[in-house]
Amino acid sequence: VLTIGVLALQGDVREHARALETAGAKAAAVRRPAELEAVDGLVIPGGESTTMWKLADTFEMLEPLRMRIKDGMPAYGSCAGMIMLADRIEGGIEGQETVGGIDMTVRRNAFGRQVDSFEADLDFAGRGAMRAVFIRAPWVQSIGSGVEVLARAEPGDRIVAVRQGPLLATSFHPELTGDVGVHSYFVEMVREL
Ligand code: GLN
Repeated sequence: VLTIGVLALQGDVREHARALETAGAKAAAVRRPAELEAVDGLVIPGGESTTMWKLADTFEMLEPLRMRIKDGMPAYGSCAGMIMLADRIEGGIEGQETVGGIDMTVRRNAFGRQVDSFEADLDFAGRGAMRAVFIRAPWVQSIGSGVEVLARAEPGDRIVAVRQGPLLATSFHPELTGDVGVHSYFVEMVREL
């Protein structure tokens, strides 16, 4: 059985752990470098990317995260986690850093001005309709040529799910719906790599 970590510095860790277990993996909380070493893949949950960044810095996790991702560890970031996996962000606070890995620019709180939180049915990776929950969500402003778009959403037909090699990110929160389609997709990615 694959062990998939959930970065447990901040955010909705338990919901992701539950969804991963439903999708057939063993979930483990990751707070320190040694725990990061022990997992086959990592989920970075939703929450607040500025807080997550500061805690990752305090817990000396930023460099270990960057190193494992550079080494090819599969990772999936949801919402704030998507921001953490972006090479570039817009609307960050002063000095805000990310872990990076996906060649994209992500705009924080992008849907916020129009609709703070909303739900939508979207097609994820050509797998049919999926209910998606957006909470002060970012969208993907632009992507490099190596990034695959897996889902778009209204308003604006914005990019809300992407994949680049072993890295996956969604603007929305699949851990809140009971539909583990995105987690199953990620578990398959980890299994294949
Ligand atoms: N707005 C949050 C941020 O910028 C993300 C919101 C979320 O993860 N639900 O980090």
